[in-house]
Amino acid sequence: MKRVEIGRKNLADYEELISSEKVREIESLAGALKGAKVLHISATAYGGGVAEILHTLVPLMNDAGLVVDWVIIEGPSEFFELTKRMHNALQGKEDTVTDEDRGLFSTVTRANADDYSFGEYDYVVIHDPQPVALPEFVDFGKAKLIWRCHIDTSSPNESFWTFLNSFLGKYAAGVFTLSDYARAGIAVDRIVNIPPSIDPLSNKNRDLTEKEMQTALKKLQVDRSKPVISQVSRFDPWKDPMGVVDVYRALKDEFFGLQLLMVGSMASDDPEGWKIYDDLLRYVGMDYNVKVLSNFHGIGEVEVNAAQRISDVVLQKSIREGFALTMSEAMWKKTPVIGGNVGGIPLQVKHGVNGYLVNDIDETIDYTAKLLRDRDLSRQFGEQGRGIVKEHFLTTRHLLDYLKLFKVL
Ligand code: UDP
Repeated sequence: MKRVEIGRKNLADYEELISSEKVREIESLAGALKGAKVLHISATAYGGGVAEILHTLVPLMNDAGLVVDWVIIEGPSEFFELTKRMHNALQGKEDTVTDEDRGLFSTVTRANADDYSFGEYDYVVIHDPQPVALPEFVDFGKAKLIWRCHIDTSSPNESFWTFLNSFLGKYAAGVFTLSDYARAGIAVDRIVNIPPSIDPLSNKNRDLTEKEMQTALKKLQVDRSKPVISQVSRFDPWKDPMGVVDVYRALKDEFFGLQLLMVGSMASDDPEGWKIYDDLLRYVGMDYNVKVLSNFHGIGEVEVNAAQRISDVVLQKSIREGFALTMSEAMWKKTPVIGGNVGGIPLQVKHGVNGYLVNDIDETIDYTAKLLRDRDLSRQFGEQGRGIVKEHFLTTRHLLDYLKLFKVL
């Protein structure tokens, strides 16, 4: 296991974005929990939504007066191949847990447990399925154990669900993005509903200077005078990257010079990413108006920020989705969004208010065209989207929800 280096953040900096009443509420709850020791455990410190959230939430919890650490588990590539299968199966893909899978899961979890040397905590928050079995092998003492599920487990593969559920009995609470994600028969008694959030002050979401924009646009190879649509996400079949290319192809004749940005990071716990990336390149072929970019092209937080900001429409054409931080990120930048009508996307995208919810390629094509044609509507959607994020999906609300949960436990 490895400790993650975390930066510093000040709660006071968020005061101008949320009401001072909310800041007082956070301070008052945090005061009651002052000095409480919290450990977050996840599978990766880079790539994907969980890492994104913890890089903000952990420093903010520290600033609020709690003593918070974040560690990640380690394992061989076969382990992360298994946990990606687990992730896919829990989102509904056909698969079966074999004895070999059980053995590998147990061996790697035990090796991480043997390596555990971080001491005693009051609360241990374990994120997603990869580290879920640690309490079988680590004695966390008096700590309250919380399992934080970031994926859509509403209709999982039975075999993997039963396997996962066999580890949940040790937890005091299960935290889900939507209460529907917690299945009947789940071994945790207390189910808590906490949607994720974005950090409005991070490099991913803060305002950019014109100079930063120019530099970022060069890296993104974008011509700002022509229309741009984009999807920012891991290269994952559930995010339907080929479907997004189909949408672009259907529209490129009508919208002269249309560009498609496919920006995807490679998460260290997602070995499937390279395969999908290669397939996507083959699918795109020699069309230079489609840019397939990743962290390996120097696309970091500021470039993702710029991509979401200059896009005329941001898509998240997911078939299954835990939450899709990318929707709130784009909405915060006043960009109209189109998202698959699945998982946490309808929590953020209000059909016909700040974007559109889509069920198939044809709907995605029609609504993307509508937004590309109607700039006033796009602007109106952008304003609405920013308001929704400000009200519901900023990191300060997320922090408050965690503090409330700690207090109840
Ligand atoms: N992301 C990024 N660079 C990329 C692709 C994705 O920084 O090239 C970030 C994206 O901005 C978002 C997170 O990874 O913050 C993805 O979170 P989301 O909830 O959308 O999906 P997940 O990967 O957790 O399924």
